Amino acid sequence: MGPMTDRAASHGAGVGALYVHVPFCVRKCAYCDFASEATRRDDPCMGEYVSDVRSQIAQAADLGLLENCVTAYVGGGTPSMLGASLLGGLVRAIREACPRVAELTCEANPDSMTDDVLAELVAAGATRVSVGVQSLDDRELVALGRIHKADQARERLAAAVGTGLDVSADLMCAIPHQTMRSWDDTLRQTVDLGVGHVSVYPLAIEEGTPLYDRYGEDDVPWNSEDVQADRMEHAHKVLEDAGLARYEVASYARDGKDCKHNQAYWTGVEYLGVGHGAASMMGAKTYDVVRRLYHWLPTRPQGPASAARMRFSTLDQEVEFLNRRQAWAEDLMLGMRMTRGVELSRFSCAKPTVESLVARGLVEVIDGRVRPTHDGWLLGNELYGALWELAEE
Ligand code: SF4
Repeated sequence: MGPMTDRAASHGAGVGALYVHVPFCVRKCAYCDFASEATRRDDPCMGEYVSDVRSQIAQAADLGLLENCVTAYVGGGTPSMLGASLLGGLVRAIREACPRVAELTCEANPDSMTDDVLAELVAAGATRVSVGVQSLDDRELVALGRIHKADQARERLAAAVGTGLDVSADLMCAIPHQTMRSWDDTLRQTVDLGVGHVSVYPLAIEEGTPLYDRYGEDDVPWNSEDVQADRMEHAHKVLEDAGLARYEVASYARDGKDCKHNQAYWTGVEYLGVGHGAASMMGAKTYDVVRRLYHWLPTRPQGPASAARMRFSTLDQEVEFLNRRQAWAEDLMLGMRMTRGVELSRFSCAKPTVESLVARGLVEVIDGRVRPTHDGWLLGNELYGALWELAEE
């Protein structure tokens, strides 16, 4: 079957966002449970992997799935570790496959985000780079098992800003050795370097990581819930004072610099994940076409109510079929990660839940939208749990 026939067959199907996973890292960080493997910088498997991923992207384009894709994100792992030539080639392939893409982000780490890589990202048509900084304190970086030094991170962030790409920095709080003072320094220095976007996360000590082996069952004071809340609040203050507004629980941006790709995840936009460990989410029409790309996908249960949305990851090859009600509850839950919240009308069959959340001070209703309050952010699990219960009713 040729591409034209495929395209016709996919009428009404397609995704708005594309995620490409690059599962290689120079070394595993002490806290990391992401899908990535320590890989030699000259390992030929990276070239083979990129070529495989590029052909899957081209196939998805041939099937007509990427015609309306407006955001793309190359994440990892450490995409910058691919080097200028492989990463540039991947970005060009995405550009070619997604004619309407308006935001194209690549994740990068300071040690491999060289001038060559940056120049090639610009030339190939990336619009944004998201840098894994985590901390600007050398002792903290060593404790996290990161391979870069604070000086290198500062210098590379400045270089990235200098290219004109939109630059985001990931920062981590409630980590070993961190004090409020050192966290404040990391935040202020990052902002002073001119980045337009910052994501802040409290460290999660995940089972199966070296950090868990060291501290897992202990109540470590530097990672307590109170410390996490204090550090997140402090980040809020410093970043908002510096002109970066919070638009999501952990994301701050200058005007117009918010990450459209991440917002696609929180607003029910269909997305396709390509590469080892990539996640996808889509409706029935798109799923039926994507099955021609991923032959291991099962047939969906029949009837629109039984499988309104499918989620799967290429890592475990398991598909989750959500019915209409579950898909709706998931939309509400994800939408509540954003400061702008969700339209009140979307809660029309869940009025008692909204009333109870308002009474508990977790949400407020403003201008026809249900928005999380400050307590709602802090007690996120309670808020999201109450919304997810709607799926079961
Ligand atoms: S660089 Fe990122 S993906 Fe790689 S090991 Fe560290 S935290 Fe994990």
